[in-house]
Amino acid sequence: MKHLSIRFKITFWFTAALIVVSLFTIFIVLSVSDQIIQKTIRDNLIETVEHNVDEIEFYASLDDLSLSSDVDHFVEYDGGYLEVDDDFLDEVNQVYTALYRADSSLLYGENPISKEVSGQKFIDSQVQNITVDGTVYYIFDRKLTANGLDGLWMRGIVSEEQGSVQLSSITRLSLVLLPLLVVLASVGGYLIARRMLSPIHKISETANQIGQANDLKKRIELGKGTDELHQLADAFNHMFAKLDTTFEAERRFISDASHELRTPVTVIHSQCEFSLEHPRTQEEYEEALWVIRRQSRKMSQLINDMLDFTRLETGAVKYPVESVDLTELVSSMCSDMALQRAKNITLQYEAEPGITIEANGELLSRLLTNLISNAYRYGKEDGHIWVCLKKLPDKILLSVADDGIGIAEEEQSKIFGRFYQVDPSRSNAGMGLGLSMANEIAKFHGGEIQVESAPEKGSVFTLILPCEKNF
Ligand code: ADP
Repeated sequence: MKHLSIRFKITFWFTAALIVVSLFTIFIVLSVSDQIIQKTIRDNLIETVEHNVDEIEFYASLDDLSLSSDVDHFVEYDGGYLEVDDDFLDEVNQVYTALYRADSSLLYGENPISKEVSGQKFIDSQVQNITVDGTVYYIFDRKLTANGLDGLWMRGIVSEEQGSVQLSSITRLSLVLLPLLVVLASVGGYLIARRMLSPIHKISETANQIGQANDLKKRIELGKGTDELHQLADAFNHMFAKLDTTFEAERRFISDASHELRTPVTVIHSQCEFSLEHPRTQEEYEEALWVIRRQSRKMSQLINDMLDFTRLETGAVKYPVESVDLTELVSSMCSDMALQRAKNITLQYEAEPGITIEANGELLSRLLTNLISNAYRYGKEDGHIWVCLKKLPDKILLSVADDGIGIAEEEQSKIFGRFYQVDPSRSNAGMGLGLSMANEIAKFHGGEIQVESAPEKGSVFTLILPCEKNF
């Protein structure tokens, strides 16, 4: 059973259930039919006897009779004559009727089991049954009370066997029709099960193809539908998409890391070679160690940034979300960062009071640090930075503006790409991860970052956050 396919198992259990139901139905049909047939036979017996009772009339002499064509039989009785209708004698509806005297002797009519019932007492208007040679007979007696008929009994007898004939034809019909129905239903059930389960075949086929070709871009195509199998396929597709992004991010991480780490590793390597090649002066050794320290710090910073970025991008780490007092966060960060006074730049800020938001405070601090650091880094001597936080009915705006070197229009769409730098040769340039990281943080909070900038005039980076987001 274990190695059978689901559609065979479904068909098997379905057919088994159907057979049980069919057998039960046959049983019910036969027993109900039997009861109905037996009742019909008894009713028929009573009706025939009652009818024949009316057919008997007594005449004191033959002269009293007006002979008519349908009068066939005369029986002498009690000094007169009984007029008996023609069809009385016959077996009507397989019911035999006979007239008996009070002493139980047969006066007229037929009785197929007269010997066996000779001792059977007459009971007026009641159906009795008697078994003769394994066959059940119903007997119905009626006392005649009409004028001149006193002391006579009419007895009707019918065999229950005629019911058996009808019952056996019902049995035959049921035994042919019900198995046929079971076979048809089973075949139909198998075809339906095959059709219903065909999407599962498709799902496993696609999963196999993905496994073999290592192609996570493939998706299960089931067409339109909302049933359980379509939901399963959607869940699989969602999982494939998620795995694809994760693997893609991992691939990019490895390739970016090896690319970005090449320069500091080369510098460290050449400094070591330089120091070890020949004996060097104290100053030269110190200089080489300073370079190595700078480059190793850069490497460690780079690795940390890249790891954080990848975690955020793939959602691998669940960052806790809580109520954050944004006014407080912006004010304290700006007052701290304003102290650095790099390039003699003045930082001013304005934060609307009482702005709170469901967010991750650590990530938002990081985003603001990146934007303000850039404003310092790409700002001019004696320049200015303006930070502004305000709330609109449906969104929160946090902008960082500077009057620094600005960004050319064609560069503005590229600066959010990872490792993108407009001018990497700039001595104070970072590693090109700051804005892409800030952008990921904005997306995490359901927001975005917009930039407006003009070369040599300055730039404005605006973070737009929705007031409410379901994390
Ligand atoms: P980086 O580490 O190089 O600063 P970012 O991702 O933070 O990397 O920024 C990408 C590029 O965008 C920078 O190389 C710089 O050219 C440009 N940029 C970012 N912020 C500013 C700014 N406030 N003014 C001018 N240019 C900027």
